Amino acid sequence: MGLLVVGSVAFDSVETPFGSVKEALGGSAIYISVAASYFTAPVRFVAVVGGDFPKEHIRFLEERNIDLDGLQIVQEGKTFRWGGRYHYDLNMRDSLYTELNVFEKFNPVIPGSFKNSAYVCLGNIDPILQRQVLERVAKPRLVVGDTMNYWIESKPKELAETMKAMDVIVVNESEARLLTNEPNLVKAAKRIMKLGPKIVIIKKGEHGATLVTEDTIFSAPAYPLENINDPTGAGDAFAGGFVGWLARTDDLSAENLKRAVVYGSTLASFCVEKFSVDGLKDLTYLQIQDRYRSFVQLSRFDER
Ligand code: AMP
Repeated sequence: MGLLVVGSVAFDSVETPFGSVKEALGGSAIYISVAASYFTAPVRFVAVVGGDFPKEHIRFLEERNIDLDGLQIVQEGKTFRWGGRYHYDLNMRDSLYTELNVFEKFNPVIPGSFKNSAYVCLGNIDPILQRQVLERVAKPRLVVGDTMNYWIESKPKELAETMKAMDVIVVNESEARLLTNEPNLVKAAKRIMKLGPKIVIIKKGEHGATLVTEDTIFSAPAYPLENINDPTGAGDAFAGGFVGWLARTDDLSAENLKRAVVYGSTLASFCVEKFSVDGLKDLTYLQIQDRYRSFVQLSRFDER
């Protein structure tokens, strides 16, 4: 079916109550693609890095069967950098710095072989760049988009324009409230539907994720883990698992959207167990299936 992913590639410096990493591999495109690569291959990757991007990261992406034809390497530039600190409540984080670097002049070039991608996942980057990508591909079957507070606050008009072209938006609770000025999440989701995406997914960190469409509301819990080290990328791993499953099955029925939400939650749960992308590195299909199935047990009960 072909899944195209665009987003950031970053060196993340992250502090959580359980440890820290400096300049570790991160970025929305990385987490989305690595998660999706467990379901569909090759994932078509569009992003930019600087001359400082190490070969070992390139090798890792290639090993995950990620097609890097759309990766631009700006030799004289520096890779995007982001710093974040998590509170004791891991649902709360502060962005310490955002250095766009090579993203400031990024002009996404879509290789000819990527243009017919049926599934497109717009990771969190400047909404203008997200829109440029959509203008440069043939009409996809499904466009899934993500964003974050940074863009909602700094480029609201541009984001509104890009949202018109999204079929699915994946946002967290605070982003949903910020986008709509509406504290109630069900109402916020309905307002977002008026802005473009007909499928809204609201991620609630350790409280799971809720899918809202015109006629469905479905909630999946987050997997109750005993060890969470680094929530960075959980939202992107969710998006990658979600869209990866849809690209694999090419089935957009309500039931399959629910399965995709649970696969998204499954990949997010592996992501947060370790720092950077380490939790997504060497998973087996069996491990993913085991955890996916255990989601059913989490909320199954005898209704009598
Ligand atoms: P998440 O935890 O799913 O929200 O994603 C965190 C990832 O987003 C990190 O790996 C960061 O490198 C990346 N990121 C943070 N801020 C931005 C931004 N303004 N634009 C693009 N990517 C960002």
